[in-house]
Amino acid sequence: MSWKNIIGQKQQIRVLRKALETGRFAHAYLFTGPEGSGKESAAFEIASILCCRSANTPDTEGSCGTCPDCLQVRSFMHQNVEYIFPVESALLDPGDSAKKENKRFAEARERYNALLEQKKQNPYFSPAMERSMGILTEQIVSLQHKASFMPGEGTKKIFIISQAERLHPSAANKLLKLLEEPPAHVVFILVSSRPETLLPTIRSRCQSVKFSRVTAAELRLWLQENRPEIIDPELSSIISFSRGNLRLAWELINNRDANLSETPTILLRNQALDYLRTVLTPSRFHEAVAACEQNARNLSRSELTLFLAALLLFFQDVNHRRINPDFQELNNPDISDAIDRFAKNFPDPDFLQISTIIEDAIRAIERNAGPLLVMASLTAEIRALLQRE
Ligand SMILES: [Zn+2]
Repeated sequence: MSWKNIIGQKQQIRVLRKALETGRFAHAYLFTGPEGSGKESAAFEIASILCCRSANTPDTEGSCGTCPDCLQVRSFMHQNVEYIFPVESALLDPGDSAKKENKRFAEARERYNALLEQKKQNPYFSPAMERSMGILTEQIVSLQHKASFMPGEGTKKIFIISQAERLHPSAANKLLKLLEEPPAHVVFILVSSRPETLLPTIRSRCQSVKFSRVTAAELRLWLQENRPEIIDPELSSIISFSRGNLRLAWELINNRDANLSETPTILLRNQALDYLRTVLTPSRFHEAVAACEQNARNLSRSELTLFLAALLLFFQDVNHRRINPDFQELNNPDISDAIDRFAKNFPDPDFLQISTIIEDAIRAIERNAGPLLVMASLTAEIRALLQRE
């Protein structure tokens, strides 16, 4: 990492750099902002700078990204950087020698490591173990313990607390005690996309830095500079699909790197349009039901999110062309013919209602609702809204 790997957030970075350069870096920060805006990556960049051995030379723009310290921070192995996120209680208790408890611990450990692996692949991913009740008191007790040890001379200990809104109440109270009298060698960075649910006393102890949603123009600029091999129409499709969420953008880029021969976003979009066609053809009702089930079963949650986002972007395009047939900034410029045909065949649908239904379906999928149920009700509602007399 280095500052130039942070996408957008110019003003926020300026403030943080200034604080670091003038030695006025606070003991506790609260980074807030929408999901996927890169606030946690900024927290890790700060951790790297505070640990990096070559960050102090005047010509470096943040951490070097290559020294042993930077590499350890990036792989969550640095002894001075602790990363805390919601885990299951089984992880915190290795149990005694009784086999059964050990097995539970070992399995939890495996799930924990898999999440870290995912985070290494996608720095915008916020890990949380599925059976977690939140950030647990034991995690903060262990943090307290670690904070009491001095790191090496001239260095700091950095605690990054992800999804701080999920602090268990008693964990939050314990953390508050630490924030009230922070040891001089410790830096806390709390990260939250829902800061209003944090204890006000915690919020008031932290210096707040508000991150903004990354704009399409910022993401485009960054990708053009750093990933010049990604070109249009793929570049535009990554930008419009991710809708300012860097976690999604990164997933799309990783998918692309894994299958260079194909463009999964375009494939998913085409699949979504095929599905829409069967849903809207009365004689193909059975096919539509089958397609709905198939999509719900075969697509992963993130693919299903993209599938639904593709529908949303398509309807946006149709609506734009319906209002202004010369509209040029389509999300899907490569299928403008199909968009125009659709606008002609369905001249007066309730686009607002359709968008709301799809947005609701995306949110339901993101909140772990059953995919089959979500897709079945979406299918029925879209049919009802678009059926021609
Ligand atoms: Zn370094």
